[in-house]
Amino acid sequence: MDNTLFSPDTKAQQTHDNTLMSDALHILQHTFGYTEFRGQQAAIIEALVKGDDALVLMPTGGGKSLCYQIPALLRHGCGVVISPLIALMQDQVDALRQMGVRASFLNSTLDSTATEYIEQSLCAGKLDLLYIAPERLNQAHTLALLQGATLALFAIDEAHCVSQWGHDFRSDYLKLNLLHERFPHVPRIALTATADEDTRNEIAQRLDLEGAHRFISDFDRPNIRYRISLKHNAKAQLLRFLQDEHPRDAGIIYCLSRKKTEKIAHWLQTSGFDALPYHAGLTNDIRAAHQARFLRDENVVIVATIAFGMGIDKPDVRFVVHLDMPKSVESYYQETGRAGRDGAPADAWMIYGLEDVIKLKQMMEGSQGSDAHKRAEQYRLNAMLGLCEITSCRRQALLHYFGDTLAQPCGNCDTCLEPVSTWDGTEASRMALSACHRTGQRFGVGHLIDVLRGREGDKVLQNDHHLLAVYGLGKDLDNNQWRSVFRQLVARGYLSVDTPRFGALRLEEKCRSVLRGEKTIALRRDIKPLTDGKRQTTAPLPEGLDITLWESLRDRRRRFAEDQGVPPYVIFHDSTLQAMCAAMPQSMTEFATLSGVGARKLDKYGMGFLQVIREHLANS
Ligand code: ADP
Ligand code: ZN
Repeated sequence: MDNTLFSPDTKAQQTHDNTLMSDALHILQHTFGYTEFRGQQAAIIEALVKGDDALVLMPTGGGKSLCYQIPALLRHGCGVVISPLIALMQDQVDALRQMGVRASFLNSTLDSTATEYIEQSLCAGKLDLLYIAPERLNQAHTLALLQGATLALFAIDEAHCVSQWGHDFRSDYLKLNLLHERFPHVPRIALTATADEDTRNEIAQRLDLEGAHRFISDFDRPNIRYRISLKHNAKAQLLRFLQDEHPRDAGIIYCLSRKKTEKIAHWLQTSGFDALPYHAGLTNDIRAAHQARFLRDENVVIVATIAFGMGIDKPDVRFVVHLDMPKSVESYYQETGRAGRDGAPADAWMIYGLEDVIKLKQMMEGSQGSDAHKRAEQYRLNAMLGLCEITSCRRQALLHYFGDTLAQPCGNCDTCLEPVSTWDGTEASRMALSACHRTGQRFGVGHLIDVLRGREGDKVLQNDHHLLAVYGLGKDLDNNQWRSVFRQLVARGYLSVDTPRFGALRLEEKCRSVLRGEKTIALRRDIKPLTDGKRQTTAPLPEGLDITLWESLRDRRRRFAEDQGVPPYVIFHDSTLQAMCAAMPQSMTEFATLSGVGARKLDKYGMGFLQVIREHLANS
């Protein structure tokens, strides 16, 4: 940089900023126990510390919280965090207190004595961070309270809740632009993991953050292994996945309907899993109880509709399953992003079939909203379907969808690990399209396959379809193979599903060239599940990890957590326990170097874990 550009004043400012950033690093290391900032954390913190506003887009697990927690500690006054989920505030505050940060929350679960105490602490400058739900913030009493206090910043978490098109819309978020009017000198930071451009702009506009610095992070989550396969026998496939790969892990299973979440949860219970349903139709009490079990215990499986997940920052979710296809790549990415926030290996595992597409389309047809909105939904669904059917790296496709690029195939998705083989499906595709055409584009997949395979069913005979030229032409392929052909033709936009007609298939303009024989089509060869003897299993633990020590450390952690009344991950994350296994520290000094061990936790828990390690070494 050209030094002549600096006046003495800016130089002084520069020195001041440098000091602040070295203070920031000190807090990161001393309080949080991490060695260095990740990605754009340092830049975001710097902007806020200087008093600027920021709009932050970071994938789930990217490390958003530190971006406002550290500036709140560095600036004068208290940082106010607006967070939509009351149920999670307790855990967020507990985790901060474990590190010696003076954090509290204000919400409707507190009685008047507790509320008063916290309000007084705020006014007396005894709080570093205060979590508040948006509806509470908008009350006159709260605003007056804040006006009387010294504030370091406002952090608006889950900022996509201002978006009326998103499924997390909260009307109270719309009023948050008053912060700018009422507190013009307090810097604001809005954070979200929702990636698409429209939502991003909507947030900036609605929250009056058009002038804010924008920080858009790399959206890759390299520790998540993406796998998408065909649904054959959903239960058997799921059971096998869970038993082989995650017999004792916490995870989320997403289903489309409420009823299905209950059925699957119940069935998993009978198979020995600690599974609980979650959907908007359950009473508040039950939902809260199930969510609390999931957060607090280490191996609860939540079977949920999309109603579950926002704001869940449990770091050790080892898998996210989709038993039904989500309606967009955005939803898929956000939901799968809830796995592996601690950076340790995690699975995103999905099974899907053509029925999923038909069901989703029916739901979309029945939804309210303008035609333009429906078209946008349709476009999103097709992109999701495209992701399911691709034969190249899934991660490259995902990142490409969000405007990022990944130069090389990732090596950690199903298509990279087990490359898909293709076959020349030109002839089969022509037959399929022509069966659809000759039968008047009025029938669904089942009937078209009957015609192609020459089955003399009632419907075939009633409609005289046994007289068609295509009748019986496709005997060489079996039912499943034909389903695969039709599914891929829909996915690639040669056919579309006519939902008002119960899933009848219609030809699209694009198929002309295929029917005329001008185009060849390579189709994906579907892998038959449950027949292969050798399967790849992902052990969620690093190779070479000493399981006995690992279990003893977990056990110690569980006891600390019980004593403190907090979830185990609040004591230490899995990744910190894994670091203990790898490094086997023998002194407090060595223990202090582990990632995730700050000064306060070293004091409280260091000896306890060192003891476990010592006993382990003595016994082995
Ligand atoms: P987000 O809110 O973006 O989903 P979190 O703030 O919950 O993510 O952070 C995800 C995980 O990463 C947490 O376990 C957090 O402690 C950890 N983390 C954040 N920043 C760092 C860092 N600089 N070094 C190491 N771990 C970090
Ligand atoms: Zn890949």
